[in-house]
Amino acid sequence: MPNTKEAAVTEPAEKPAKKRGANKAAADAPKKRASSKAASRTKETAPEVKSAEAPKRQRARKAPAPKAEDITMPETAPQLPRESAQEAPAEDISAPETPVLEMPIETAPETAETVPEPIQEEAKSMPEPYFAPQPGPRRSVVFIGSECYPFVKTGGLADVMYALPKALSRMNCDVKVILPRYACIPWEYQCKMVYRGEFQMPLCSDGRSFYVGIMEYVWDGVVYDFIDNQEFFSDGNPYTSIIGDIPKFCFFSKAALAALNYMDWIPDVIHCHDWQAALVPVYLRTLFQTTPLSRAKTMLTIHNLRFQGVYNIPTIRYWSGLPNFVFNKDALSQNWLDANMLKGGLTYCNMITTVSNTYAGEIQTPEYGETLDAHLRYHSGKLRGIVNGIDYDIWNPWTDPMLHTNYDITNVLPRKKENKRALQEELGLWQDDHKFVIGLISRLTNQKGLDLVNAILPQIMDEHTQVVVLGTGDKGYEDAFRYYENAYRGNLCANIMYDEGRAHRIYAGADALLVPSKFEPCGLTQLIGMHYGTIPIVRETGGLKDTVQPHNEFTHDGNGFTFDRYDPGLLLDAINRAKTFYFTNRYCWDEMVQRDMDKNVSWENSAWQYRNLYLELTADRG
Ligand code: ADP
Repeated sequence: MPNTKEAAVTEPAEKPAKKRGANKAAADAPKKRASSKAASRTKETAPEVKSAEAPKRQRARKAPAPKAEDITMPETAPQLPRESAQEAPAEDISAPETPVLEMPIETAPETAETVPEPIQEEAKSMPEPYFAPQPGPRRSVVFIGSECYPFVKTGGLADVMYALPKALSRMNCDVKVILPRYACIPWEYQCKMVYRGEFQMPLCSDGRSFYVGIMEYVWDGVVYDFIDNQEFFSDGNPYTSIIGDIPKFCFFSKAALAALNYMDWIPDVIHCHDWQAALVPVYLRTLFQTTPLSRAKTMLTIHNLRFQGVYNIPTIRYWSGLPNFVFNKDALSQNWLDANMLKGGLTYCNMITTVSNTYAGEIQTPEYGETLDAHLRYHSGKLRGIVNGIDYDIWNPWTDPMLHTNYDITNVLPRKKENKRALQEELGLWQDDHKFVIGLISRLTNQKGLDLVNAILPQIMDEHTQVVVLGTGDKGYEDAFRYYENAYRGNLCANIMYDEGRAHRIYAGADALLVPSKFEPCGLTQLIGMHYGTIPIVRETGGLKDTVQPHNEFTHDGNGFTFDRYDPGLLLDAINRAKTFYFTNRYCWDEMVQRDMDKNVSWENSAWQYRNLYLELTADRG
């Protein structure tokens, strides 16, 4: 990940209070309409759709086969002085003898220099929280997953693993995050990690053992524990091939639980994410059933059902070391040959969540169920949908250091024009305020509806329109966009790359953002787009349906332009409706821009819903 984004997190810019001036009334009226309609939309149930596509997070590179080692049992590993995060504040957990950890939130804000002495003191001792501290029972939660911003990110999962624990830590929760210690984690974080201990852990069905090291980093009220083992985590990429990833994530899931036992940190809830951590509930209810950890409840969140961790039964049986009885058709077995790690996790966890209400409904249908629809229907009693949010510390057009010009809702109209000009200049496009600029920021895979885009691009391109693409992925799509760049030079720019800073500038400089996904569990780009006053054009599926209220051509309320069936003609129609609205009714378009910026897409609501689920799961604990 580029350093620019890291800088945005580790050195947050000063955050002034949101200003609202002359435009406030105009923005408020439509907002009321929008919110009441949004409320009614949440009641709508899901689907009608289709599916299919290629894996995202696995690249064809074989992981090194782990070497055999001498065996010692993890449970008997020498114990370091034990600390429970329930008892000790997070800061205490960072061992005193180690280098001082950098805690950006506690550094004096720039404004402190300009305020009188007493206020300066207050600013130091009470960093402004996201949300007021809430009363109610305290709960300890551990997040277990394979990626987390800013350490390692390949997609939206990393954003969630970063932002949700941070939000929960401000809602009376003790939060710990357990991650693999990949070699690709930037050195600036590696060098601040503190050694917490090590032990040998038997893993495989023949008793083969592996080293487990625990390295800790405390930041922003959240404790991050990294599972260290160079045999599994030394690749330059968190995901390699499925052949390498199966042993890696069997090891990681078991080591995460063993590390919790080792540290004597017994949480109320273990919250696992995607197939890479899906064996955690299975281990907990089998090999760890007699340990203190077994009192914990488990939640498994599906961020993308397409990726499930499927491989032949003998291999998964060997690497997981799980007892034979879990390889039955109601748990891990998918058919006579294959085992499915996600399926096993869904069976053994106490609660399943996914990242939007609509997607929770969709995945119970054959079209979206990725062969697990019947299994999910069976477990639907414990399935919930909670939409993701975005982190306002990172995604804030008023403080975003990567933008040409910062803006808020009061000055978005002129300043967005400045950002549009700067973007056109940066990308070598014709500089013209009057052009309608459409952005597309996406992995270039067919999940994202790019075959639709390719089919209609020539019909979108006219003298009033520019298109800016940012993404990497399937070679076919990359080449297609390169071809179109050449064909429409000056009006279409294909950035075939991953560039955090450029993404921020496209969100700020474009007029509209295209998200025509075939399926979309939640989607973050449309949320970021709205927060930057960029109108989303989306297909009504998954989280896109739950977060973008369609424009109503009579009342002019809504947040964006939508289409339902997966059809290029309907996408073209939605784009043309947006264009017509932009060119013929700029006053109402501008109102929509302000309404979108005003919409609450933060983690606040969603984190509360997760917290309520934790309380529901642990209601017996008072
Ligand atoms: P997914 O997780 O399916 O890839 P999401 O919409 O949930 O999609 O999250 C995508 C995230 O990755 C967003 O934060 C988006 O800005 C970012 N992103 C995607 N492609 C790029 C890229 N080429 N350069 C920079 N950021 C990107």
